[in-house]
Amino acid sequence: IMCDDLKGGEKRPLPNPIGNFEDAFHCYPEVMRSLQKAGFQRPTPIQSQAWPIILQGVDLIGVAQTGTGKTLTYLMPGFIHIDSQPSNGPGMLILTPTRELALQVEAECRKYSYKGLKSVCIYGGGDRDGQIKDLAKGVDIIIATPGRLHDLQMNNFVHLKSVTYLVLDEADKMLDMGFEPQIMKILLDVRPDRQTVMTSATWPCAVRRLAQSYLKEPMIVYV
Ligand code: AMP
Repeated sequence: IMCDDLKGGEKRPLPNPIGNFEDAFHCYPEVMRSLQKAGFQRPTPIQSQAWPIILQGVDLIGVAQTGTGKTLTYLMPGFIHIDSQPSNGPGMLILTPTRELALQVEAECRKYSYKGLKSVCIYGGGDRDGQIKDLAKGVDIIIATPGRLHDLQMNNFVHLKSVTYLVLDEADKMLDMGFEPQIMKILLDVRPDRQTVMTSATWPCAVRRLAQSYLKEPMIVYV
């Protein structure tokens, strides 16, 4: 594992990686219970490095492949984050490049569901009217592909002002698929004082630029 601090000037001390779930979540028995129920023995490398950073409220970039445990890396702190905020609309927004990933993330979201937080999955090719109805019922977590979400945003079916925890999952793939214009428009509606977590399997210039535009003094974890 390598860990960088992108902040210019003086370096912030990196939190120590954690060795067990208790170290990160002893104050959150519901999180502990669902990790136990899943039968996990210990945090994966990205979780052990990233959880203490995200839980401090710092923006994070995880350079990590699928299969590293990246989803729970951002979901668990996200649940805790939005549960502690006054809720008036969706608090967490997760952008993914594909419908498949969106559905996979939603399945994890439901499996580890926290304090009855409600999630909705919004993707192109899916039932648009059904998605609009689900949004109207009220949700805490939106998992979406950028194209369809931007369509619903333009038509005022979704309001993103309440989002305080943003995830850009598989950012390199979203750029490859040409979603940058939609991401840009979506993020115009998300408050600038949010916390942002980004994951990417690779770390080329285009992804660095995206990070520079949308994250605030992020720390980076490579696994
Ligand atoms: P991901 O990289 O998020 O696609 O996760 C890959 C798989 O690892 C998923 O099936 C997760 O449920 C599983 N996983 C996540 N965290 C852990 C952990 N701490 N120990 C064992 N498996 C895990």
